[in-house]
Amino acid sequence: MRKIVIIGGGAVGSSIAYHLASHPAFTGEITVVERDPTYRIASSSLSASSIRQQFSTPLNIAMSRFGFEFLSRGADLLAVDGDRPALGLKHSGYLFMASSSGLDVLRANHAVQRAAGADVALLSPAEIAARFPWIATDGVAAASFGLSGEGWFDGPALLAAFRRKARSLGVTYIAREATGLVRAQDRITGVRLADGAELPCDLAVNAAGPWSARVAGWAGIDLPVRPRKRMVFVVACRTPLTGCPMVIEPGGICMRPEGAFYLCCRSPGETEPDPDEPPLEVDETMFHDMMWPVLAARIPALEELKLTSSWAGYYEMNLFDHNGIVGPHPAAPNLIHATGFSGHGIQHSPATGRGVAELIAEGGYASVDLSPLGCERLVEGRPLVEQAIL
Ligand SMILES: Cc1cc2nc3c(=O)[nH]c(=O)nc-3n(C[C@H](O)[C@H](O)[C@H](O)COP(=O)(O)OP(=O)(O)OC[C@H]3O[C@@H](n4cnc5c(N)ncnc54)[C@H](O)[C@@H]3O)c2cc1C
Repeated sequence: MRKIVIIGGGAVGSSIAYHLASHPAFTGEITVVERDPTYRIASSSLSASSIRQQFSTPLNIAMSRFGFEFLSRGADLLAVDGDRPALGLKHSGYLFMASSSGLDVLRANHAVQRAAGADVALLSPAEIAARFPWIATDGVAAASFGLSGEGWFDGPALLAAFRRKARSLGVTYIAREATGLVRAQDRITGVRLADGAELPCDLAVNAAGPWSARVAGWAGIDLPVRPRKRMVFVVACRTPLTGCPMVIEPGGICMRPEGAFYLCCRSPGETEPDPDEPPLEVDETMFHDMMWPVLAARIPALEELKLTSSWAGYYEMNLFDHNGIVGPHPAAPNLIHATGFSGHGIQHSPATGRGVAELIAEGGYASVDLSPLGCERLVEGRPLVEQAIL
């Protein structure tokens, strides 16, 4: 009986637990160590939970395609005793707009996406205006629009469904903090808990999200993942924006509907401060000074918007190349990392869970090959850069 301990029971850790417990080739015990069963500041609770195919890396596109398919069938796959979870998947494309300076990147990404089978179209400003008459296309050279396989969903519901299904399949969740690893040379033989107990294991998984560098550090590994604050602003708009997709401004500000409201997000520019693990306070001045004017210029109806609420959470930011880090590091071969998704982790949680389950149960990837996300690239200084980060 193999003993597997997963540190972190967010969407990624719980997806791994579910996929492993349901893998036909796996026999063993799975324990998830999750310090906060309320998930108050977990990324999976504070996510904008949107899913897109419009990445610049073919592997990310493949992971999203599986994620969308999984979410579409999630109510059946994650049902427990006939109780089918409502995952709230909404089908709606992303509209990535580019100014003339961003046109080459937009076209290059579009070619990668088409080659990877993504259902995307390039729209001229006139085509954007015809589809979305409430958008002002000034300064827009073209846009890339997802025709299918994109949208948004209820992230906390997905996490809860993974967790509930995993438990129904025999996975144990322990509500404690992991504080260290027990090692024999380069092997991990156990996970230490805050109360002094030790959980013996044959293999451990680091799914600690924004806090995963701390876990990796216990094995002497310097993982380039940091908790970086990102904010979501919820606004009301009196005029309905019919058929509103996920709108992405050429400068990166994005906005999408959520019920009767709209969620607006913005990542800091390269020269702006972006400290590690700051308090999760919302800076509404940033919304008023930097986001609202841009949104109102692009969508004149938003001149009369009302900010109704807001929140902040941490991206598990991979400073090396903004992509997931999945797999063991050569310094500790039986510690698998699944982290660093830099703002696209909840949509990739189904594909990551499936892949890590295959790695553990079968000794290698059987469906989508996730090895390009492996730690070898960190060791060898070979970035796998994702251009389309929001
Ligand atoms: C504002 C915002 C918007 C986002 N929008 C999107 C989006 O639109 N689409 C998308 O795909 N992604 C988005 N993301 C990113 C996405 O939410 C994350 O990539 C994903 O939720 C990461 O899941 P996780 O399970 O790795 O991390 P988490 O959900 O943070 O889970 C990690 C868990 O590990 C636990 N933990 C950590 N250390 C320990 C320890 N030592 N002992 C025990 N437990 C521990 C924590 O308590 C936590 O519950 C967004 C994130 C934010 C903050």
